[in-house]
Amino acid sequence: MSKRKKNQASRGTYKKIFDFFNAPVMQVDCGAKCAPLNGGEPVCCSAENAIPVVQMSEWKLLRSRTDMWTSFVANDAASRKIVEELDTTCKAIECNGARNCERDNRSLACRTFPFFPYINKDGDIIGLSYYWDFEDRCWVISNMALVEQDFIDEFIRSYEILFENDPGEYEVFCDHSASMRRVFSRWKRPFAVIGRDGEFYKVLPKGAGMKKIKEKDLPKFEPFNSDKAFAKAVREANEAMED
Ligand code: SF4
Ligand code: SF4
Repeated sequence: MSKRKKNQASRGTYKKIFDFFNAPVMQVDCGAKCAPLNGGEPVCCSAENAIPVVQMSEWKLLRSRTDMWTSFVANDAASRKIVEELDTTCKAIECNGARNCERDNRSLACRTFPFFPYINKDGDIIGLSYYWDFEDRCWVISNMALVEQDFIDEFIRSYEILFENDPGEYEVFCDHSASMRRVFSRWKRPFAVIGRDGEFYKVLPKGAGMKKIKEKDLPKFEPFNSDKAFAKAVREANEAMED
């Protein structure tokens, strides 16, 4: 996720958020669900899949609390490009890996993944939608019915505090929400949103509005849409590792 900023939230703002935002996304250990497809590592905990990007103030706070984070060192053209395109107020970082994860010292991106605050055309924070690039790798995206209300409440409160203190971050997520509407309109597909109230909605393509949906109508993506597809994907991942 690229970022462009003017006024940053302070280190104190991040501390305030970290002090209460600890709810797990769900009661299931979702890392155990996606890791078999990713060489045994949870997908969002490997920098090859998702390079954590933080603001400098968040970085300073993390460094004052732990040594589990270090600067990310790009080792291929794609990651070099991501790092080069970052605003100077942001930093790409890397942690010690899932086995050494200190829960209290996760970044905001770790605490929220795979979700971002979905903001509609009128500028209202409607709820949570997801980073769509991960539909095929993140088990949570295919199991949104299991997301806990405590997580939703803490997520929304965190972003309200962040946006109050950092209008640039609000703009970043307005832009990201607009991108999601454009991408899914092009694909002629609706996308799902978890409302602040825990209800489920779908945003229709081509600006046709938002509708409430039932739990059973939430999307499931391959290979998480059937046991058979999942077993096949695990088999293929194991074979690829042996090659
Ligand atoms: S949030 Fe998604 S990618 Fe991260 S560990 Fe859970 S299932 Fe895997
Ligand atoms: S800090 Fe923890 S949650 Fe965040 S990427 Fe590292 S292992 Fe994953």
